[in-house]
Amino acid sequence: MSPTPELSVVIPCYNEEQVLPLLADRLIPVLEATGCTWEVVLVNDGSADGTWALMQGLRASDQRFTLIDLSRNFGHQLAISAGMRHARGEAVVVMDADLQDPPEVVHAMLERWREGYDIVHGIRSSRQDDTLFKRVTAAAFYRILQALTSVPLQADAGDFRLMSRRAVRALDAMPERARYVRGMVSWLGFRQTGVTFERKARAAGVTKYPLRKMLAFAADPAAEALRHNDTV
Ligand code: UDP
Ligand code: MG
Repeated sequence: MSPTPELSVVIPCYNEEQVLPLLADRLIPVLEATGCTWEVVLVNDGSADGTWALMQGLRASDQRFTLIDLSRNFGHQLAISAGMRHARGEAVVVMDADLQDPPEVVHAMLERWREGYDIVHGIRSSRQDDTLFKRVTAAAFYRILQALTSVPLQADAGDFRLMSRRAVRALDAMPERARYVRGMVSWLGFRQTGVTFERKARAAGVTKYPLRKMLAFAADPAAEALRHNDTV
C-alpha cells in the first residue's frame, strides 16, 4: 500500500458515468496544485450504468484513486460514511461527483485546516440554481430540524466539507446506522468554521435525489431529534 497521503477526497457516485470524466479532468490539477500528497476515494453506490468501469479506468491510470464498490445502492449518506472510513489522509474532504462542489474550494479549506480548524464546512452563497421546490422544502426542513434540536446546525451547508483526522476518527466511532452526516458533524464539536462558495448546476446527468429519497433523508434526523429531545 502507498504511504499515507496528506489529503483524501471522498466522492460518492451513483450512476455518474456522464460526469466522472469531467470530474477527474478538473479535480486532478487542483489536487496537484495543493502541493499535498493525495488520494481520491471513489465510492460506487450500487450504480447501474458504466460508473464502475470508469472508476476502474481511473485507478488503472493513477493508483492514487482508491475504489470502493458497495454491494447495492445504500444512499448518499452511507456512501460517504464508507468512503470516510477508508480514507487515510490527515485531512479528508467529501465532495459530490457532479461538480456542484467546486474542487478549487479545497485550497481555501486546506488553509483553514492549517490554521487549526478541524471541520471546514462548504457554505453555499446562494441556491439560485436549485428549483423553487427544492429551496422551499429545504428552508422548511432546516427550520423544523433546528427547532427540534439544540445542536447548532450550520446554515446553507451540505456535505461538502473538510475534516481533520481526529474529527474523522470521532465521526467514524459514532455507531448510528441512520446516518445524517451533516447533523452528526455539527454535534461533534471541535473547532468548526466555513468557507463560502457558489453552487452551480450539476455538470452533467440528472439529480440522484428524487422526492422519495429526499423524504427519507429528512425523516431520519427528525425522528432522531425527537427521540433524544430530553437530552439535547
Ligand atoms: N449519490 C449517491 N447515492 C445515492 C444518491 C446520490 O452516492 O443514492 C451521490 C451522487 O452520485 C452525487 C451526490 O451523492 O455525487 C449528490 O447527489 P445529487 O447530485 O444527485 O444530489 P443533488 O445535488 O441533486 O441534491
Ligand atoms: Mg448534485
